[in-house]
Amino acid sequence: METTKAAASSRLRQEVVQLHDQMREAIEVFLRRQPLVRGTLYQRRRRCGRPGCRCARGQLHVSEAFCQATERGSRHVALATLDLDQVRRGVTDYREVRQARARLQRCWCALQERLQALASLRLVRLEDLSVVEKNTHAC
Ligand SMILES: [Zn+2]
Repeated sequence: METTKAAASSRLRQEVVQLHDQMREAIEVFLRRQPLVRGTLYQRRRRCGRPGCRCARGQLHVSEAFCQATERGSRHVALATLDLDQVRRGVTDYREVRQARARLQRCWCALQERLQALASLRLVRLEDLSVVEKNTHAC
């Protein structure tokens, strides 16, 4: 019985350490300093309308564009004037932050469960504690 308890306790301790490591990694994502960009990059394909242009034959013009959700709907921006790499990095980093936040929440729930289980395994009855022999008639 005690060995089962010890094994369960040991497994829980390992899980707690792993969850703690995962949480630290997730927090590190928040501690970075690069700017975050909320939104999505996509490729806009369109026809310019000039007769005889290749787009009239189905080869559409492709340009990078950006979409951002706002309170009033979504905002679309052509990226011709912006540094595309910087926007792309910002978008990727923002997605990573969101994923890290979700991971952190999952880890935190799992961690609370494991910590509670560990504490429960450590609970003893008062009678189970060892008795200290005391010499009450010491000279
Ligand atoms: Zn065209």
